[in-house]
Amino acid sequence: MFCFTVNLKENDYCNKCGKPLNIEQLKVMEKKAERMNILHEMLQQELEKKGVDLAEIVKIMALKRN
Ligand SMILES: [Zn+2]
Repeated sequence: MFCFTVNLKENDYCNKCGKPLNIEQLKVMEKKAERMNILHEMLQQELEKKGVDLAEIVKIMALKRN
């Protein structure tokens, strides 16, 4: 779960792997990721019903982010 990189105490996230150093924070992030996965699946099903290719949308969103 952790890479065991020694980080500064004031860091919230590991400077090597980017994971939160605080366990509570990690749990919150995991819960959020879980919810995102559920939302993602629901969205995918909805879009598939409408005949929309989600992979294509994700690609467009990724391009916009950069
Ligand atoms: Zn790390």
